[in-house]
Amino acid sequence: MGFLEWLMPPSIFNVFQTRLLENGQGAQPEPDFRPALLVVDMQEDFCPPNGTLAVTGGRSITPLINTLLSSPLFVLRIATKDWHPPNHISFASNHNHASSPSPCCPDSSGKAAIPFLSTTTVHNPHNPSESYTTRLWPSHCIADTPGASLIPELDVSKIDQILEKGTNRLVEMYSAFYDPFTSPRVSDSGLAHMLREAKVTHVYVVGLAADYCVWSTAMDAHNEGFETVVVEEATKPVDEDGWRRCKEALVGEPGVRVVRWEGEEVRRLFPGGLVTTTVGAGNDEEVVEEEEEEEKI
Ligand SMILES: [Zn+2]
Repeated sequence: MGFLEWLMPPSIFNVFQTRLLENGQGAQPEPDFRPALLVVDMQEDFCPPNGTLAVTGGRSITPLINTLLSSPLFVLRIATKDWHPPNHISFASNHNHASSPSPCCPDSSGKAAIPFLSTTTVHNPHNPSESYTTRLWPSHCIADTPGASLIPELDVSKIDQILEKGTNRLVEMYSAFYDPFTSPRVSDSGLAHMLREAKVTHVYVVGLAADYCVWSTAMDAHNEGFETVVVEEATKPVDEDGWRRCKEALVGEPGVRVVRWEGEEVRRLFPGGLVTTTVGAGNDEEVVEEEEEEEKI
């Protein structure tokens, strides 16, 4: 039994499973290819069954992420955690006079803010003229609570570093790099510096949620000058429509590429070979034909 088969028996994971060739045959690693893997927010609160902001299918992508983590080529493997104070600006409960004794940003209308539906305008605490409007969420990933922990299925033994983001109660931080403000920036995780120090050339982004933190992280990785790919099967969105719009926004742009698991970008991570993708459904498995086409947007 191979290591991955031992790690991910199909009877446990009702999801994709991929086996690696065990004999190391295949092409040699490319000399100028120094990829990093960013595993975004694989935390209990973003996963069924108990997450307060559970993303449909969020837990099911873990075996694919663990397979990526096993690539010998990544020079850095970084996991992020959303890590909020209880009075974080992104929580609807902190914009509701009735339910919050000391809201960080009270809604002047006095109406209760509704998670997923309500929005708020966030001002740069150092420059009130800079602002943006953002969606409000259920309370989630409060620092040092069980909901903020990485899910146990994730192979953290392969992760070099864990970054916490969203720690400043006054700003939203979807991206693993920094908050959206620029004049001046409020929070910077140091990730860009870390990637440059490691002479990273390519950044692979996976995790949760595709249309928010994964997307923002990928865009910032690209803007920082890294070749950036999102592996589509290794992420899940809050809203399918929102994720579709993210991808459509790239049409005609040389931006972030969203690639398929069977595409070249994943294959080059495994010079020893990556074969036979199966979809497990309990004990019933079906072999899926390998897709050779990569989604280029
Ligand atoms: Zn958050």
